[in-house]
Amino acid sequence: MTQPEPFSMFDADQLAACVQCGFCLSSCPTYETTKLEEHGPRGRILAMRLVDEGELSIDDPEVVDSLETCVQCRACEVVCPSLVQFGSLIETARAEIAERQPPRGLAGRLQAVVLWLVTRRSLVRAGGVLLAFAQALRLDRVLPARVRPARRVRLGDTLRGYRLPPPGAPVRGDAYLFRGCVMDGLFRDVHRATAQVLAAVGYRPRFEPAPPCCGALSAHGGREDHAHALAESTIAAYAGTEGPIVVNSAGCGAAMKEYGKLLGTDEARAFSARVRDLSELVTPQEVAARGREVGLTLGYQAPCHLRNVQRLSDEGRALVAAIPGLTLLEPDDEQQCCGSGGLYSYLQPSFGDAMLARKDASLRRTGAQGVVSANPGCAMQIARAGWEVHHPAQLLARSLVGAQQQGPSALAADTFATIQPDDLAG
Ligand code: SF4
Ligand code: SF4
Repeated sequence: MTQPEPFSMFDADQLAACVQCGFCLSSCPTYETTKLEEHGPRGRILAMRLVDEGELSIDDPEVVDSLETCVQCRACEVVCPSLVQFGSLIETARAEIAERQPPRGLAGRLQAVVLWLVTRRSLVRAGGVLLAFAQALRLDRVLPARVRPARRVRLGDTLRGYRLPPPGAPVRGDAYLFRGCVMDGLFRDVHRATAQVLAAVGYRPRFEPAPPCCGALSAHGGREDHAHALAESTIAAYAGTEGPIVVNSAGCGAAMKEYGKLLGTDEARAFSARVRDLSELVTPQEVAARGREVGLTLGYQAPCHLRNVQRLSDEGRALVAAIPGLTLLEPDDEQQCCGSGGLYSYLQPSFGDAMLARKDASLRRTGAQGVVSANPGCAMQIARAGWEVHHPAQLLARSLVGAQQQGPSALAADTFATIQPDDLAG
């Protein structure tokens, strides 16, 4: 048997920074699932180190399994006393694996189709319209439960364009709402709610320019070139504009805040500095002072990319908790991933399902009647467990802008993701 060659693709300083202390193990959802070192951050870093030293090959099936089962939640980064940047290590590893062993079979085809589709806005939108029809006629029930989107799409939402909400007091200037791919095709009501909230606090929301996709799914899947190209086209689209770029999908926001790191240019760093989550533009004080009552008791789900990459979980929670009349409950495993991870729940279903089961149990222990989440993937994953999930922008718009109809029935129309009870059996 030939000895693998030393393979120096990793940042040697980052590999050396890991002192193998194991503080990260309990924060890792895949380690929690199997309790095996190879499914935890310490084991994964050790595997990378052995690849780097030529002791193991990156093609070794056990190395591939160890690295491919990481959901890239980056919870390990938050607790690491040596500040190991695990996210960049795992992205390097995944890019190399994707190049040497492109995913095959159903998983490979699913990934290829999704990555092809996300750059074609008109097709994503047409897909949204088809889905709305299929759901209205209950034809979506022929799909296996795992691939049936837990997003109930209203035809009117997908067909209507964007209209600027009536101006509040535009004293803060323009705010550019990043529409993205999936969010623009399936979650237009969330974009409208976000624009309403921005207008209510004095921004002039802009729906253009509208680059097709941030590239987060490509980066997650190890498609480095694709991720670079999408980052560059997103930055180019906003050339000549000024003001915050508002992102209401936690995963997209995290990816766009890391363009500076990804591309390593001053232009990319300047772009990343403009990217904002809603919780960075609206204050809890404004909401508490001006909001109307929203009488709901919800469990707070902190999307990993909001919590561990953008480090804005506290801000996001405080903003929703400030809505008058709303009771926000914290699950006891707040730091644990729900198992969505882009396409992860499809590509690694046993891990994804185990994480969802734990998240569902912790949310149920709170006694909440629904969930609030700021990420579409998390919302659809959690809805699969039977929850009605709301986006913070929907709740804030309801409170700050209001509606004729109040109470739970009005809120049922403002749902980020939900699933019909009879779908759960499918
Ligand atoms: S990644 Fe950090 S927390 Fe985990 S074992 Fe290494 S040094 Fe310790
Ligand atoms: S990124 Fe998440 S799943 Fe991957 S090793 Fe770190 S904690 Fe575990």
